[in-house]
Amino acid sequence: MSRVNVEHDLRQTLQTSTKDIKLYIDGKFVDAESKEQFENLEPFTNEKINAVASGQKEDVNKAVLAARKAFKGEWGSLKLQKRLDYVYRIADAIDRHVDELASLESYDTGLPIFLTKKMVSRASRNFRFYAEMVSARMVGDAYRVDDDFLNYTIHKPVGVAGLITPWNAPFMLETWKIAPALATGNTVVLKPAEWSPLTADKLAQIIDEEVGLPEGVFNVVHGFGETAGASLVAHEDVELISFTGETSTGSEIMKNGADSLKRFSMELGGKSPIIIFDDADLERALDACTWGIFSFNGERCTANSRLYVHENIAEEFIDSLKERVSKIKVGDPLDEETQVGPLIHNDHYEKVNSYIELAEKEGCRVFQGKVPEEYSRGHFIPPTILLNADNSMKVVQEEIFGPVLTVMTFRDEEEVIEKANDVRYGLAGYVWTKDLQRGHRVAQAVDAGMLWINSQNVRDLRTPFGGAKHSGIGREGGYYAFEFFTETQVIHVALGEHPIPQFGK
Ligand code: NAD
Repeated sequence: MSRVNVEHDLRQTLQTSTKDIKLYIDGKFVDAESKEQFENLEPFTNEKINAVASGQKEDVNKAVLAARKAFKGEWGSLKLQKRLDYVYRIADAIDRHVDELASLESYDTGLPIFLTKKMVSRASRNFRFYAEMVSARMVGDAYRVDDDFLNYTIHKPVGVAGLITPWNAPFMLETWKIAPALATGNTVVLKPAEWSPLTADKLAQIIDEEVGLPEGVFNVVHGFGETAGASLVAHEDVELISFTGETSTGSEIMKNGADSLKRFSMELGGKSPIIIFDDADLERALDACTWGIFSFNGERCTANSRLYVHENIAEEFIDSLKERVSKIKVGDPLDEETQVGPLIHNDHYEKVNSYIELAEKEGCRVFQGKVPEEYSRGHFIPPTILLNADNSMKVVQEEIFGPVLTVMTFRDEEEVIEKANDVRYGLAGYVWTKDLQRGHRVAQAVDAGMLWINSQNVRDLRTPFGGAKHSGIGREGGYYAFEFFTETQVIHVALGEHPIPQFGK
């Protein structure tokens, strides 16, 4: 069978098998109380995929009530090993559905299928990793005070965890939050992004049919941010919100959660630099730079969207970059050979396009790859590089969140550090040099949460994940997630007869 037929058949199968989506509350798939639905569109064709129940305040209330009941009931009193057995079972169930989940994710988001296959396989690792992490590392400290006291800490689950996630890598980011939330003993209400509901729904089905979690432990309320999301944030019985999304949304959420004194983890936007010195391994740096901005269709929080290349090698490097860009395969996300697919939604497409128009007005030279003509219906933006950019431009300061790379040059270390830090974001950064002393120096001087030296964005799940400045608050990943998903309690035990003031004696 030809490749085009394979994609055609897969799309037809997805079209006929993808049903309308309900909310998952207290172990049941239900309509929204209002019966309202919203349309979910396919990025490649811009046609309707299905209708999704539009959760509102009353649905969030139901889900939180179910989650609270489960927390106070069976789930809250489970022995640790039993709880972790459930978490391992979720991982096993995901593994049985990798192909289906990956196709759904590509169909729904426009992300190339070669990528969604990798991401979905990694999602089950999130569950196993956190189950292992909790059994090995969720331990308290003991503080001995001579013979008088032994004080010790324990980690207790917090209660109902509200998880709010974006559309750019939905399944990966949802599981990255659900896994530590459940493994540490909380119950969950997930509010997935409205533009990408398919895999969250599939996960609810898998958990319902194959894992048998106690009712109410895991709930999914689909819906819009301003309604479903905001109700979750404001709810008095939701103890914490783990949010990944735009910086402006994060700040709105913190205001909305202030009255109920919510605990927040904020994983926000980025505009990360890649700094390439003239002694770098240029071929590998080119691979990493191209992949880092154009993978995930450029919709990647840690994308290296600002290139600073040393002026001695700038011409050679930029020529090679242009050659790569012109050869990137843009196409149908369901085609295994596609490297860049369509952007998620028409609104986002308009936003990214408007930045490319602005770049020209701001004085950039725009160089673009190619989108095959037959793909005019989808939201395709060709891989784009903005040459002659500088830090004063909006296109360099603001997160575009598409396949668009701004290109700048630099002369020395001091200058490039200043330029790299001259943005409000601080999520990630990448440094390429064979001089390792310089590599460490520059990496440590960049104001960002995560730096890589001579490397693309390779994640180590044990390390802290998160951003500085306007890119976030707090860290997830490894045992850093315990800080957020548990309450640390200290118990002070008097061993001897310490003095107690005797008022009124
Ligand atoms: P977004 O902020 O528009 O939406 C994210 C989620 O928040 C969605 O589920 C949305 O419905 C919900 N939401 C919107 N308004 C809300 C409100 N008032 N109250 C509660 N919930 C609300 O972000 P997006 O466009 O879906 O995702 C792209 C952004 O996410 C980019 O800025 C990207 O950098 C960021 N991101 C960050 C990371 C990270 O780890 N730092 C990872 C992935 C994406």
